[in-house]
Amino acid sequence: MSNIRFQALRAVQSRTIPEVKIPSPKISDFFGANVFDKKKMKEYLSTDAYQGIINSIEKGEPIPRDMAEQVASAMKSWAIGKGATHYTHWFQPLTGTTAEKHDAFFEPTEDGGAIEKFSGDALAQQEPDASSFPSGGIRNTFEARGYTAWDPSSPAFIMARTLCIPTVFVSYTGEALDYKVPLLKALSVLDKAAVDVCHYFDKSIEKVNASLGIEQEYFLVDLALFNARPDLHLTGRTLFGHMSAKNQQLEDHYFGSIPERVYAYMQDMETEALLLGIPLKTRHNEVAPSQFECAPIYEEINLAIDHNQLLMDVMDRVAKRHNFKVLLHEKPYAGINGSGKHNNWSMITNTGKNLLSPGKTPKNNLMFLTFFVNTIKAVYEHADLLRASIASVNNDHRLGANEAPPAIISIFLGTQLSDVLDEIETSRISKIIKDDALLWQGIPKIPQILKDNTDRNRTSPFAFTGNKFELRAVGSSANSASPMTILNLIVADQLKKFKVDVDKLLKKGEKKDVAILTVIKKYIKESKKIRFEGNGYSDEWEKEAAERGLSNIKTTPKALDVFIADKSEALFLETGVFTRREVHARHEVLLDSFYKKLQIEARVMGELANNIIVPAAITYQTKLVENVKGLKDIGLSPELYKAQIDIITKISEHVNAIRSDVESMIQERKKANTIEDLRDKAIAYDEKVKAYFQPIRYNVDKLEQLVDDSLWPLPKFRELLFI
Ligand code: ADP
Ligand code: MG
Repeated sequence: MSNIRFQALRAVQSRTIPEVKIPSPKISDFFGANVFDKKKMKEYLSTDAYQGIINSIEKGEPIPRDMAEQVASAMKSWAIGKGATHYTHWFQPLTGTTAEKHDAFFEPTEDGGAIEKFSGDALAQQEPDASSFPSGGIRNTFEARGYTAWDPSSPAFIMARTLCIPTVFVSYTGEALDYKVPLLKALSVLDKAAVDVCHYFDKSIEKVNASLGIEQEYFLVDLALFNARPDLHLTGRTLFGHMSAKNQQLEDHYFGSIPERVYAYMQDMETEALLLGIPLKTRHNEVAPSQFECAPIYEEINLAIDHNQLLMDVMDRVAKRHNFKVLLHEKPYAGINGSGKHNNWSMITNTGKNLLSPGKTPKNNLMFLTFFVNTIKAVYEHADLLRASIASVNNDHRLGANEAPPAIISIFLGTQLSDVLDEIETSRISKIIKDDALLWQGIPKIPQILKDNTDRNRTSPFAFTGNKFELRAVGSSANSASPMTILNLIVADQLKKFKVDVDKLLKKGEKKDVAILTVIKKYIKESKKIRFEGNGYSDEWEKEAAERGLSNIKTTPKALDVFIADKSEALFLETGVFTRREVHARHEVLLDSFYKKLQIEARVMGELANNIIVPAAITYQTKLVENVKGLKDIGLSPELYKAQIDIITKISEHVNAIRSDVESMIQERKKANTIEDLRDKAIAYDEKVKAYFQPIRYNVDKLEQLVDDSLWPLPKFRELLFI
């Protein structure tokens, strides 16, 4: 019987490309067809109800009961007309994925028949039996129930014949149990703070929204090969595997032509996404073999995040039709690039102005500089919090591990803007106070089209890219709400402080523009250390960053400490984004999932090594032993079977090393499991258990190079990556 690897390879060879049905050659014909968007609301709702919903979306006004009834009935008619049979509240619990509980529209009637029903109550609120979602103890101590409540700012959609209603998820005592609640809170704090600052420049601005465009990186692998790798299957990454002779060293994959089979998948996946109103715009190969990227056009941030969560789901579902598996893990293959999720972020006013877009006039540029410098200052002040918001067991393989990039948060601006800030920093504002015209000369000219826009620094975790900042350190499988809650919150907080600082100067009788420029100048000076234009992946940068006093927290359990530090707590309480209980609960959930994932990896590693790898190596070794015996029998001189003896010996050495390391790892696991304190436990897993991963892997990968290819049981990197 051939082993599962060869069965899988045979399956791969017989793959055909499924036909992809595209509803219309014109995307505009079907974009958003499965979304109950504004256009459909207008069609299905009375003018009053429509206006009510719009007010709720735009101004956060509550929707009256009777109106919810109307909306529910309209949604139902629309959804049933499109073939939906069920509805569900769709939410984002702290597991990181999305959750749904489906209910049928249909209800039996007294006369033995049935009708389709969907009430305003069912739209507005559900009580999922949610005691199995992580809550960090919130639900255990108080109430076992949680409830989901409709978020009208994200439109309902139909997926797999189910009407999905985006909701928040909170405990019965009102604490957030999801990613959406804190995000929405942070956005409203940002809105208020940014509008207040906007009023220095333009009184007509009433609202500021954050915008987000998420570039999503992923790997594709054939489904049969995926299934033949228990490690990929159970942990999302390969725990073993000798690097393929050809990997990314030729750099021939990036922007290369997309393989036909992948192209069909992309078209199919994009069509599904477009039907759901996800404005996917770009697709290309990424740096590593079998790595790809897609990106939508940016949207209002809450929607962009919902869409990204939905997209990850769509990617996975469509992949099955193509016999692919999508790997969203941050580091599925050691030795080649991992995957991230670049978060392109900006702030946009209700008047359509992008606050991070340099203007045509100096006056506009003062406004740009205000938001630009405040963002830099915010990231400088709370770099650790931003670092914590992207921390996860998977992302530790990307940040801080021996393969770049490091876990240091720094900001890249490009030479032009760096120069502008330097110029302001050294300018003498006092000299230009007297004359308005001179003041404007004090602000350096900022060209509309920035040169650095094309000349990107790909090694920076937080880079300015023309009219937005790009947070690149987010992991590919993460829910972006986590870092985006923090980013919006810290910028909001900084803008509030800015207003206080400027108002102080105004009270002293300073002219407005001078006051603003004076504070900007001060902030530029104070936050200078976080700016770095060089190679963020270099060793020199790690040294320099340490000299500058920037933190470089390499592992998750320690990076998470800042969530419960006094400085953060003050920030959370003051802005109301997290209560003390909520933040402690989240901290606990994150630590818990951290160690559990390592626990699973350790178990899978032990099992694979003991039950699959070692037996295969011994089988080959036995063959060699028989061969040597035979050669000896026919009287060959030992000189002539030296190679066999050498391999036999090496196999024994590696097998022994593996067995002994696996045993020690199990002992460390047992010890770690007895630790009560979650943080200590997570650190023990990280420092004691995980410490065995590399040595075990080293010996397994050596065996892979020694053992007869036809006996090797696991698909190899060259097969996973190049088919
Ligand atoms: P890149 O060269 O990094 O791929 P793109 O211009 O293609 O840059 O943009 C990447 C992402 O940034 C896209 O999702 C795009 O819609 C988004 N983006 C562009 N402008 C903004 C903005 N003002 N705010 C937020 N995201 C933006
Ligand atoms: Mg980018």
